[in-house]
Amino acid sequence: MKYDAHFDKAIKSLKEEGRYRVFNDLQRRVGEFPMAYSHSAKRDITVWCSNDYLGMGQHPKVLKAMKDAIDSAGAGAGGTRNISGNHHYITELEALIAKLHNKESALVFSSGYNANEGALSTLAKQLPNCVLLSDACNHASMIHGIRSSRMEKHVFRHNDLTHLEEILQSIDLHRPKIIAFESIYSMDGDTGLIAEFIELATKYNALTYLDEVHAVGMYGKTGAGLAQERGLMDKIDIIQGTLGKAYGVMGGYIAASEAAIDVIRSFAPTFIFTTAIPPAQAAAAKASIEHLMDSAEERQAQQNAVAQLRKKMEQKNLPMMNDSSTHIIPIFVGDAELCKQASDRLMDEYSIYVQPINYPTVPRGTERLRFTPTPLHTEAMMQELVSALDEVFNHFNISRNFSAEILAA
Ligand code: PLP
Repeated sequence: MKYDAHFDKAIKSLKEEGRYRVFNDLQRRVGEFPMAYSHSAKRDITVWCSNDYLGMGQHPKVLKAMKDAIDSAGAGAGGTRNISGNHHYITELEALIAKLHNKESALVFSSGYNANEGALSTLAKQLPNCVLLSDACNHASMIHGIRSSRMEKHVFRHNDLTHLEEILQSIDLHRPKIIAFESIYSMDGDTGLIAEFIELATKYNALTYLDEVHAVGMYGKTGAGLAQERGLMDKIDIIQGTLGKAYGVMGGYIAASEAAIDVIRSFAPTFIFTTAIPPAQAAAAKASIEHLMDSAEERQAQQNAVAQLRKKMEQKNLPMMNDSSTHIIPIFVGDAELCKQASDRLMDEYSIYVQPINYPTVPRGTERLRFTPTPLHTEAMMQELVSALDEVFNHFNISRNFSAEILAA
């Protein structure tokens, strides 16, 4: 077999569909975010699609904690959690995460992806004859966790309570069940019906599993997420989050009862069979969480930036796909090739970087540009962005109409 010819063929079809991913080779520089140097474009650019939502990736407290930990404990953890890699920086971080979410215990993974995959697959396998109920818009990591449990699963239409209840009614009340959903859906920027899912879970004897990846650090009094903001955190059984987005570092976690955490710690392959995160990473994440538990300044500034940008986009009649409740602003394009061309023109003509979001990240026909304003984007940057977008939409004759029905189709 000609292996490379086979691989080339697969890539060719991606290219033909306009779905071939090109990575921007970026150099982030401390003190300059959201500006960065692009080695691809060979100049400074403004980043409009970062998930370092609050700029914590360059916060002095976070950098200091990271540097101090390197000087004190060295570079790596030196092993898996079980075999010599369980350092005090991680156990302190876990204690803080449990406190943040007001849960008995917490467990840190090397990424949010691993946390979802390991936790969901393990919980479902450990519960006899368990059934998983998963929102149709759940992230790939939850889908893979559910799949790898090999337990019975049902996917309910996104945020559709009637559909979820129909499925719940069809399952024996005494069978263990897990309802898995997100608080903020990162591509549409809408929110999960947390209160309603909790109500159904109580009625039908199910556990609730909430992915707060796009909300931790940014919502709620101490940044614990959307469930905290809505006064519902204590009613969620398992909360999952990341240290790589608003907290600006890397890693993932779950927080839950001591018994649930212990079973995941003891059985989840994505937790057990991998090197523990380095001391510096744990120390930086802890500093970031601690800061955002005390300071609402960054959250407030981000919300102001989002409101300001939305207003400017509205004035230019740009097709925003969601209402104003979250920090994610998707602008509808509806075609993979056009979406890529629009992104390229923003970069080439205006030094503005926004990644095109195409299938399979979003359904075909709903391709979009996704903007994430941070507290560090200035009014001048916003003005520059909306003027550039206005010109790009005119240049490619992209429709400015968006109907939410296309998402339901
Ligand atoms: N869950 C959701 C909803 C996500 O969007 C992501 C990543 O983008 C993850 C989990 C994975 O988190 P991490 O990037 O920490 O692996």
